[in-house]
Amino acid sequence: MANDKSVGKLFFYALLLVILLFGLIRVLINAGGNFFRLELLGFLVLLAMSVAGCIGYVRVWGERVLFGVFVLYLINLVLMWYVTRELSIVLLVLGVVGFISSIPRAAALPKPKAPEAGEPHSVVFDAQERKAASEAKEEPKATTKFTPGKYLASKSGNVYHEPKCDWAKKIRKARQVWFNTKEEAWEKGFKAHDCVS
Ligand SMILES: [Zn+2]
Repeated sequence: MANDKSVGKLFFYALLLVILLFGLIRVLINAGGNFFRLELLGFLVLLAMSVAGCIGYVRVWGERVLFGVFVLYLINLVLMWYVTRELSIVLLVLGVVGFISSIPRAAALPKPKAPEAGEPHSVVFDAQERKAASEAKEEPKATTKFTPGKYLASKSGNVYHEPKCDWAKKIRKARQVWFNTKEEAWEKGFKAHDCVS
């Protein structure tokens, strides 16, 4: 179903791009001198990007390229307007339509992925990541100073201790995670041991 939809959309893009590029060819025929050379270059770039975008459409980057084509096309239209003092409303409208229709998918693509990934898993994963990140930050402190915080925990555990606690003393230096406040420890997913006053 999603495949049919994207094939339809690809056809829509292709049609739009053909019309837009033909519009540029018409401008090219009437143009001369430096403007002609500039527009020819712009046309070739847009043509190459359009073809690449349509070929890579199945992948995410393909639609991004098409989005880029529409953006460049609109910029090109404005420049043409500036030079020739003529603006083709039809081309402008088509360019805007292409621009708008290629935005939402590019922006919406990552969104549906997040809930599908499974919330429990991602929450656990995020927590682990955050833990890993905080450990990475904490690591240099732990090696340079023996008691770089008020509380400590083991990387593999989920409770934190006061340094004087017997359990705390058993945590090897390499596995130590330090906190300055209870809140900090709590935020990183650690609970207080009985030793914490
Ligand atoms: Zn303890």
